[in-house]
Amino acid sequence: MDSSAKIRIEDILNRVELYRPELDEDLLRHAYVFAANRHQGQVRRSGEAYFTHPLTVAWILAEMELDEVAIAAGLLHDLLEDTETTAGELELEFGPDVTRLVAALTKLSDFESSFSSREATEAENFRRLLLASMDDVRVILVKLADRLHNMRTLGFLGRDRQVAIAQETLDIYAPIANRLGIGSIKMEMEDLCFRHLHPEQWERLEHEIKDRADAADRWFAEIRSVIEGLLAEHGISGSVQGRVKHMYSVYQKLRRQGVDVANVFDFLAFRIIVESVGDCYAVLGLIHQQWPPVPGRMKDHIAIPKPNAYQSLHTTVLGPEAHPFEIQIRTRDMHKIAEFGIAAHWSYKEKGSGAASEDSRISWLRSLLDNSEGASPREFLDSIKVDLYPDDVYCFTPRGDVYSFPRGATILDFAYRIHSEVGHSCVGGRVNGRWVPLRTELKNGDIVEISTSPQQRPHHDWLNLVATNRARAKIRSWLKREERDRAVEVGRKLVERELRRVGASWRRATAGDEFAALLASHGMSREEDLLAAVGFGRLAASGIVSELVPGASQEAVEEPEPGQRTRPPTATSEALEVTGDADFLVYVARCCRPLPGESIVGFVTRGKGVAVHSRSCPNVRNLMYHPEREIEVKWASNAAVSAGSPSRVEVDMDFDDRSGMLASISQLITAEGSDILSCQLRTEHNDRGFAAMTIMVRDAAQLERIMARLGSLNGMRRVERRGQSQQARA
Ligand code: MN
Repeated sequence: MDSSAKIRIEDILNRVELYRPELDEDLLRHAYVFAANRHQGQVRRSGEAYFTHPLTVAWILAEMELDEVAIAAGLLHDLLEDTETTAGELELEFGPDVTRLVAALTKLSDFESSFSSREATEAENFRRLLLASMDDVRVILVKLADRLHNMRTLGFLGRDRQVAIAQETLDIYAPIANRLGIGSIKMEMEDLCFRHLHPEQWERLEHEIKDRADAADRWFAEIRSVIEGLLAEHGISGSVQGRVKHMYSVYQKLRRQGVDVANVFDFLAFRIIVESVGDCYAVLGLIHQQWPPVPGRMKDHIAIPKPNAYQSLHTTVLGPEAHPFEIQIRTRDMHKIAEFGIAAHWSYKEKGSGAASEDSRISWLRSLLDNSEGASPREFLDSIKVDLYPDDVYCFTPRGDVYSFPRGATILDFAYRIHSEVGHSCVGGRVNGRWVPLRTELKNGDIVEISTSPQQRPHHDWLNLVATNRARAKIRSWLKREERDRAVEVGRKLVERELRRVGASWRRATAGDEFAALLASHGMSREEDLLAAVGFGRLAASGIVSELVPGASQEAVEEPEPGQRTRPPTATSEALEVTGDADFLVYVARCCRPLPGESIVGFVTRGKGVAVHSRSCPNVRNLMYHPEREIEVKWASNAAVSAGSPSRVEVDMDFDDRSGMLASISQLITAEGSDILSCQLRTEHNDRGFAAMTIMVRDAAQLERIMARLGSLNGMRRVERRGQSQQARA
């Protein structure tokens, strides 16, 4: 029943009575009359009476077999937004349950909203809708029915609105319907979106399918009779439906595979609905005996249901004339869940709130909100869109628990799915018994065991390793906390250093009431906020100090004495110190990875401590624009002996490709006490060879020796440390 004009309250009552014989007829009749009155005189863009909209929404909810409260809410859902009706009135007439649903479906008007942009208001409305849906899943179900009818009548709006609403539906509401397992709404929404977003392609496809309808019908009939014969022969009762797949999935398939529209058989699919799970597998066997299955296309969603609880066997077989077609096999119950998803479950649960709260589909809704913590409206909506992509990869814990992930997810996503602490301390894992690194992509059926180490901690790079928003959100919040802690520390060092120069101390300078006033003047309440601002580079330490100690003379704040730079070796950040201040957090910049002994310079970074660059690093030239961030660093004098962990250096070589060249190179490097980490070799026709090697060296002196010896090898044309070819070596 699509044509809304024909729906009457009697139709709805009759439909509800089929699945709820003891329905509260009065509630529905009352809601009907009340809403019809209040919407009196309002007209939709289509020219129809406005009331046809809530009436159709109620009908869709009845088709989903929801209860009277949901259907009444469907009838009343636009009253608070579009009429003078108040929540108090609704509560008096219909009680708290219905009123709560309607209120949850009512958007904040721009006027009520404290948000500046339309986008922010939309994000907030959506966030509220999700929150309310977690208490009562009927909220989102009514919303989906509302949006479905709006999509059906989209043609009456202006083109811009059509595109905006269709895109939002495709990005957010159709995927939500999918995740809640409501296949019927998902597919109808997608088709309507496709139709409005790509009208030309829609028309062309519809044409193509129509043109081939006759051929398809004959073909349908043939396959169908074969399947029915098989069922009868083996005493299995079931029904066989042949259908054209929904247009949007055909369109996606054509685009994905670059298949020609002319191949109409790609559009056809069969569905066999039987009595028991045993019958499902029996039928699958019969089908595979009849037609050869296409390898890799068989999916057992009965043994491993989709996250939205969908169950079915899927297979693709080569039918008559070698045309492949798809068959889905499921029981009646599975079919109902495939069509109505969570609504199918819900209708048998009497308790309104909380009844479905343990349902994984509801906890998934919650995860959409959890992952958006601290995000801007734009980030929130974007992350929702990513999270709504259907999961594709299923993996197991060694105990056999199944988790699903989007394609591209890694071991690290798996670790974060188990627990955020497991994620933070993950060092790798075993996949199917074999040790693998963090970045390993998950594949269907992998059995994953995570390894953790108490020494491990999240790193910025991890953000690029993960594919789920959940993991990304956890990593980001850890890094934020960590960054802030470091910023406070760095800020404290910077301010204390400035204070020492003017002969003051932090404790004395911050003892009085003036300090509170100073904080307030920067819009802060805590000492840490101020130090973090300095650490992040938003405030200058010298500025703070002149505020703290107004009398401090200008010339006291001056450059440190020159000649302090010393340059003995070793490699890790422990071997580095800030001149005159050993406590500074120092790390080796990744762009140039200076070696012990090299000429270096430090820059105070936003929150990460002091980055130490090689003087010749190209990035330093840019950093020179911020001289206030420069800070003197030196190689620790005691580091000479410790020879800590060596650093990796990339060396490029260009040589005549004579036999034994590679052997000479590697012998030489090993003889100098260095290790080769990796080597990429390329030779060209004209007997030229190129090698890109990564080697481990302890300090600049060792590297210099190795480079010099490599350069003097017979046949060597060029030896260069990568990324520093233009540098003027001192
Ligand atoms: Mn509406």
